[in-house]
Amino acid sequence: MRCSYCEIIPLTEIKSPMDYLAALEAFDRMESRGILEKVYENYSFREILTGMTGGKTKFFHQYRCRTCSTVYGMFVNTTIGGEIRINEKIFDPSEYEKKPEAPAEKEDKS
Ligand SMILES: [Zn+2]
Repeated sequence: MRCSYCEIIPLTEIKSPMDYLAALEAFDRMESRGILEKVYENYSFREILTGMTGGKTKFFHQYRCRTCSTVYGMFVNTTIGGEIRINEKIFDPSEYEKKPEAPAEKEDKS
C-alpha cells in the first residue's frame, strides 16, 4: 500500500526523453526532500543529464519510500520508452550476474 507521501508518484508510461528527465528530476527532488531513498541506479541523474553514459540506452532507477517502503522502479530504454511501476523488491545486480548466458536447464543440480 502506498502512503500519502508517495501516492502522488504516477505509475505511468514514459514516452519521450523529456518524460524521462522530468520523472527523474521528480524522483531526485523527492529524494532530496527525504521522502524517498535511492536504492538502485545503473547511472546517476547527473551522469544522464551530462550524457556521461557511454551511449547506453537502458536505464534503471529504484527509489524506496521512507514511510511505507514501497519500491518504485523506473526502467527506460531511450529508443522505445519506459515506465514507472511498483517493484516487489530492490534490484540486486548480483542475482543477474550469477545467471549463466546459457539456458537455465544446463545448470548442474547436484
Ligand atoms: Zn510511501
